[in-house]
Amino acid sequence: MECEPAILRASRCWPGQGLLPLQWAAMNSTFAFDVCIRGAGIVGKTLALTLAREKLRVALVAAPPAVATQAGQEPARERDVRAYALNHASHQLLQSLRCWPAAAVTPVQGMRIWGDGAGMVAFAAEALADAAGTAPQAHAPLNWIVDVPALEDVLDSAVHFQPSIEWVDAPVPAALTAICEGRQSATRTALGVEYETLAYAQHAVATRVRARVPHQGVARQWFQGDDILALLPLGGTDGHEYAVVWSTTPEHARQLLLVEEDEFVTQLQAIVQHGHAGEADEGNASEAGADELGFTLTASRHRWPLRLSRAQHWTGAMPAAWAGAYTAGVAQNWVLLGDAAHTVHPLSGSGLNLGLGDVRELAQQIAQRPLWRSAGDRRLLRNYERARKSALVPFVLATDGLQQLFAHHEGAVHALRNWGMNQFDRSAGLKSWLVRQASGL
Ligand SMILES: Cc1cc2nc3c(=O)[nH]c(=O)nc-3n(C[C@H](O)[C@H](O)[C@H](O)COP(=O)(O)OP(=O)(O)OC[C@H]3O[C@@H](n4cnc5c(N)ncnc54)[C@H](O)[C@@H]3O)c2cc1C
Repeated sequence: MECEPAILRASRCWPGQGLLPLQWAAMNSTFAFDVCIRGAGIVGKTLALTLAREKLRVALVAAPPAVATQAGQEPARERDVRAYALNHASHQLLQSLRCWPAAAVTPVQGMRIWGDGAGMVAFAAEALADAAGTAPQAHAPLNWIVDVPALEDVLDSAVHFQPSIEWVDAPVPAALTAICEGRQSATRTALGVEYETLAYAQHAVATRVRARVPHQGVARQWFQGDDILALLPLGGTDGHEYAVVWSTTPEHARQLLLVEEDEFVTQLQAIVQHGHAGEADEGNASEAGADELGFTLTASRHRWPLRLSRAQHWTGAMPAAWAGAYTAGVAQNWVLLGDAAHTVHPLSGSGLNLGLGDVRELAQQIAQRPLWRSAGDRRLLRNYERARKSALVPFVLATDGLQQLFAHHEGAVHALRNWGMNQFDRSAGLKSWLVRQASGL
């Protein structure tokens, strides 16, 4: 039975008509768990921790990970070579859960983006704070580069010590089933939810490199023909290591995984050379020429096909056959979060930030619900779907628009986009507006 006010009024079960709040809470206790989360990626685990903080009983469907319970112990799992650019909103959420892996985070103090001509855009945290007149935040970084395995470890450990979360090896009945299974979600497919997908003519290759000179917390990105190369600073502001995300044609991506390490570095250096030719004039000791950077490969190389995708529906009722197998007559609903609901091109580093935005919105809807509504109440799930679908629009337009803009090879478009970049670079107001949008706050 779903606790809808109309139904309740009709059956004279409205709280104002004699039923105590505790009795209402008991009605929602039909199941051993309030929420069943399918998928324990970063989005699933963050959701579990956020809902457990709201005193909900959470089942997390996945094999429990090996957790390092003592200092110095290494959990046994394949280490992801990626590092994510996380924005201020994600930082706040993870910090509120005490899951910010501070020792494995590099604040981004500057960002440089080169076009495929003379176009260039530079962002500096300090200059933008001044332009926005935000003195107390003057030294807040643009964003943070976070080592993925370190973030996974800290989340695993927090889940391990949270008594309201239980690892289960198969889905269990609950008023709400949260599907956080990533872009290939089997549950989403079994529910028959359409996942609209546009495959980009690009795959991403990720790895890590070390440079001879420190990066000083500056992230760099190049748009060069079919390639988009990002170097994300790691190891703190004085670090020498970068996480590499190189989006290129599928064929070139395959080759980049097979070529010798020296050849990989030579090809990477050829793209980097383009930007550093301009930087050499700026007299900054860290802005060495590409040859002086002397890159060496420090990690294995991995490849991801890139897609823009979005599920048509983000919430619905569990099919009668599934729900009936659990507990007949009690409403059970589902909701999609993270990559199970949407994916974007990694050029703007927004995928996980959007997924954590989903977690924040859903947790807020659940926390603010009246006591007589269950965590799986359809009305609050529909509010969540509406809010998050509209939050997704500007990110899709920006990342897809940029990808498309640089995919054109015509001379006129080439000149125009590089001219546009320089015009944008001169507009402090527009740049600080963009940084505020990307912060997620
Ligand atoms: C190269 C690259 C670079 C990126 N860089 C950034 C960046 O800088 N910043 C950013 O914000 N985002 C970035 N992203 C996006 C980011 O990786 C994703 O948005 C994020 O990992 C999505 O997390 P998720 O938990 O939703 O899904 P996933 O990470 O895919 O996790 C899903 C989990 O569910 C499990 N699972 C699957 N099916 C089932 C099932 N049936 N039952 C139980 N469990 C199941 C999977 O094993 C997995 O553990 C990048 C992506 C790529 C490819």
